[in-house]
Amino acid sequence: MKRSTPWLAAIVLALAAAAAAAAPAAGTADRIFVNGRVWTGEPRSPRVEALAVRGTTILATGTSAEMRRLAGKGTEVVDLEGRFVAPGFIDAHLHLLGGGLSLEELRLDEDETLPAVLKHVGDWASSHPDRNWVTGEGWTYAAFPGGLPTRAQLDAVVSNRPAWLVSYDGHTGWANSFALRLAELTRSTPDPPSGVVVRDGSGEPTGVLKEDAMGLVSRLVPKLLPYEKERALKQGLAQLAAWGITSVHQAGLDEEALETLARVLDEQGPTVRVYAALDIAPDPTPQILARQDELRRRFASGRLRVGAIKGYVDGVVEAKTAAMFEPYPGGGTGLPQWTQADLDRAVAAYDRAGWQVMLHAIGDRGIDMALTAFEHAARANGTSGRRHRVEHVEVPRLADLPRFRAGGIVASTQALFPYPNRNHLEVYVPTLGEERARRALAFKSIDDAGAVQAFGSDWPVFTAEVVRGLHTAVTRTTLAGTPAGGWQPAQRLTPEAALRHFTRDAAFAAHEEKQAGTLAPGKRADLVVLSQDLLAVPPERIQDTKVLLTVLGGQDSYRSKGF
Ligand SMILES: [Zn+2]
Repeated sequence: MKRSTPWLAAIVLALAAAAAAAAPAAGTADRIFVNGRVWTGEPRSPRVEALAVRGTTILATGTSAEMRRLAGKGTEVVDLEGRFVAPGFIDAHLHLLGGGLSLEELRLDEDETLPAVLKHVGDWASSHPDRNWVTGEGWTYAAFPGGLPTRAQLDAVVSNRPAWLVSYDGHTGWANSFALRLAELTRSTPDPPSGVVVRDGSGEPTGVLKEDAMGLVSRLVPKLLPYEKERALKQGLAQLAAWGITSVHQAGLDEEALETLARVLDEQGPTVRVYAALDIAPDPTPQILARQDELRRRFASGRLRVGAIKGYVDGVVEAKTAAMFEPYPGGGTGLPQWTQADLDRAVAAYDRAGWQVMLHAIGDRGIDMALTAFEHAARANGTSGRRHRVEHVEVPRLADLPRFRAGGIVASTQALFPYPNRNHLEVYVPTLGEERARRALAFKSIDDAGAVQAFGSDWPVFTAEVVRGLHTAVTRTTLAGTPAGGWQPAQRLTPEAALRHFTRDAAFAAHEEKQAGTLAPGKRADLVVLSQDLLAVPPERIQDTKVLLTVLGGQDSYRSKGF
């Protein structure tokens, strides 16, 4: 431009003045991060080099030179030396107490064969002679011939006290004979309404209890003492920060658990923020709604926020309890926990009271029931923008995916669920059958249908280590790279899409996108520094990424040794 007219010059000057007024003043940053590779998550400027923090919020993002201009005498300068920065990770679905306990209890997730499981249980039992019960979690169906264990197998390693081991998905329990005797569970014990006592050919209980039948034994397991719960929560929260996580969505808890969590978050230094969902009441009376509303108002801001209600529509695939339109191989279409009419009524009551509702739904019929209930609530109450959520969305009918976008419903999925280990390939997939397996865990199809998809872990079902989740969502392989090319490679996501689901979209799913989920001036200074650029490394190397620093509201919640 050679010559500018006076009016144009005036506009240029006015714009420059406005920009100067909006820019933060020199010397006002508490900390600046320079020379980095920063992914902001902001569509207009996704990649920058540096950012500045003041107090609990982000002051500015831009070039290193621009950020240095905001530094003053007391400003801490962090030279990132080319390392990667992302918005703090958000896990949109986990269970804090179970996750915390999983760090110290008997976990069978890695034991892929029956001998491995039994050796692990036997060793653990003999090294914990003080425990009145042998309890643990995490066994996978593929470890057992036929897909389910038996009490006789467990008796062989624990016979002198009761043993109770819960499957990795939390929907099936495995008891030894001692535990069955204590529970007075015999061939004449009837199945509870939403559960199954698995029996052998002669009608004897095999030791396996599905869904609500689990309570027949689990009610006898000694309750954790308050200090044990608090210890587990503290460990869990610290571990989440070490994985780069700054916010989590707690998928259901009762009032007592909420009080414990509030106490722990108060006592402990910065770890993570918690967006909590209370357990759904099957019949939400005015009294129940009033009590839950009281809790919502009490925990409306700060590091613990109550904003949602969580319920279960169905079970899980491996136990054939996820509700399906077509039968499983061998029969049965799953166990819906509600009639549609009851679900519609309960969801509408919560919707009317202003709650976001999160419904666990895995089978195509369960997902349809959840969507139908949300659509019914919106029509009945004339509401919109509640961002109700379907949790898991494992086996949707493809024709139902547009209903998410149309209804403003969030698809809350778990990045590690398609992890193609033995359990997945040898039990999960055959239990679905070929046609259903093709539309299972279809993350790309969910994105393509225009839904907001928030990623979580369902910890302790899978680890909450976000780097692992990103690796699975991007490669659809195991850490060892199998199967070659990935399981259902058409459903692989780009690293950027996967990262967005763990940040911006997860923030949206908690109505927090104005405060979190991206790195932008005015938002919370919740961020993570990683050893390598997640968007640039070959996908199979994502798993090598190390968390170096996690920052929560400007304060370090985790710092690795040597950073
Ligand atoms: Zn869950």
